[in-house]
Amino acid sequence: MVPSKALADAERKPYWLDRPIAPEPLPPLTGDVTADLAVIGGGFTGLWTALMAKERDPSLDVVLLEGRAVGWAASGRNGGFCAASLTHGLGNGQDRWPAEIATLERLGRENLDEIEATLARYGVDCSFERTGELRVATEEWQLAGLDEEVSGAASLGLRLERLDREQVRAEVDSPTYLGGVWDRQGVAMVDPARLAWGLRDVCVRLGVRVFEHTPVRSLHDDGVALELETPKGRVRAGRVALGTGVFPPLLRRLRHFLVPVYDYVLMTEPVPDHLLAEVGWRGRQGIGDSANQFHYYRLTDDNRILWGGYDAVYHNGGLVKPEYDQRDATFEKLATHFFETFPQLHGLRFTHKWGGVIDTCSRFSAFFGTAYGSRLAYAAGYTGLGVGATRFGANVMLDLLQGRVTERTDLRMVRQKPMPFPPEPVRSGVIQLTRWAIARADEHEGRRNAWLRTLDAFGVGFDS
Ligand SMILES: Cc1cc2nc3c(=O)[nH]c(=O)nc-3n(C[C@H](O)[C@H](O)[C@H](O)COP(=O)(O)OP(=O)(O)OC[C@H]3O[C@@H](n4cnc5c(N)ncnc54)[C@H](O)[C@@H]3O)c2cc1C
Repeated sequence: MVPSKALADAERKPYWLDRPIAPEPLPPLTGDVTADLAVIGGGFTGLWTALMAKERDPSLDVVLLEGRAVGWAASGRNGGFCAASLTHGLGNGQDRWPAEIATLERLGRENLDEIEATLARYGVDCSFERTGELRVATEEWQLAGLDEEVSGAASLGLRLERLDREQVRAEVDSPTYLGGVWDRQGVAMVDPARLAWGLRDVCVRLGVRVFEHTPVRSLHDDGVALELETPKGRVRAGRVALGTGVFPPLLRRLRHFLVPVYDYVLMTEPVPDHLLAEVGWRGRQGIGDSANQFHYYRLTDDNRILWGGYDAVYHNGGLVKPEYDQRDATFEKLATHFFETFPQLHGLRFTHKWGGVIDTCSRFSAFFGTAYGSRLAYAAGYTGLGVGATRFGANVMLDLLQGRVTERTDLRMVRQKPMPFPPEPVRSGVIQLTRWAIARADEHEGRRNAWLRTLDAFGVGFDS
């Protein structure tokens, strides 16, 4: 049961974006400009692309065009788990790219180290804490999965610590925990909105011209340059990088590979010290539980608890709409699960409740490509694990746009596309059937029914 007052005063907006420190948006584009590189989208994909383009070549003339405000979408409203994994977790990567998972893991860890180094180099203050992540089992059947994760990591020379019930509860005390795995190095916690705003500032310092409230309405090739049409101006650019996430794409072919999946989050008031002491959590790790429908949760720098996940909602028809950002049935469910996990915190209130849209693809990890004779590159499909991986995706786009063959562009993961989703209305039917089957698997000790096993055999699925 959710204490009736717990959600009563929660504001219907993302906590991270709803703070006085939010910067004023930069002015929109007016008039016509030219650029060597135009980056479309001011989420992490676009911001990292613009930033690293300038680092690679400071003389490059770069513009970034964001339809609303930098970081307003997934990038500024997520859980802030900045993971090394480029493959939506080690298991997914091992299943799909067994021959190159060691390389993918190394590149992912290098990417996370480079994020840390870049933030330090430019003084980006976004509460980056390399606390690692605890993945916990709350049902007996999930323990085998934890063991597999530890042995899978060990086969690649990576050390994950397997914790038994007492050990995991000594870290964070929930009566629901039966065991855990602590990945100490592979995940950092960040304040995602401050990361996006900080990256915007670095871009500006490096000379990127950033235009906010500048949606690109159309894109066409005039034979010499790519021309981008915005409400009050145009950009003619030699190269274009698309970092537009799950929003209606400027390149039609991307529609086949992406579906918008809504994920929901609660934020508590700051937890008083005496209550937090009852939970422990001195290591401040991010935490994820291990069912197919999983929760993720973490502390903020003022000791609020962000609590999200579980329901991954696809609205039939696949539209992105502001009203989908709120879903009271999910908020109630999340609050109930919160107090089941931490009964010590009974009486705590939530100050914010919100949702956001995730760019899900059928292999759960980003895909890449080019168009217009390799003058445009795209990266999308991070499926709920893009806070860290978007920087890798940005590097891939820059390699592709420069025509460079690198260790990154040689990866099968980069060269191959995910399986496309079928068109609507079949798409909705297939996704809702899969969601139902996933929920049933969780109720039946993880046992996957014939439908899920068929999807597994084809290497496709649905996740958040
Ligand atoms: C609730 C929630 C929780 C999440 N939790 C985590 C987590 O803990 N860890 C993790 O790794 N990932 C998480 N994610 C996923 C992560 O946030 C995303 O993978 C990542 O932010 C994707 O960044 P992006 O730049 O590709 O897309 P976005 O952040 O969606 O940015 C795309 C931008 O492009 C702009 N745009 C689109 N079309 C146009 C156009 N035509 N013209 C101009 N601009 C345009 C949009 O306005 C938007 O700002 C979560 C996502 C959600 C929604």
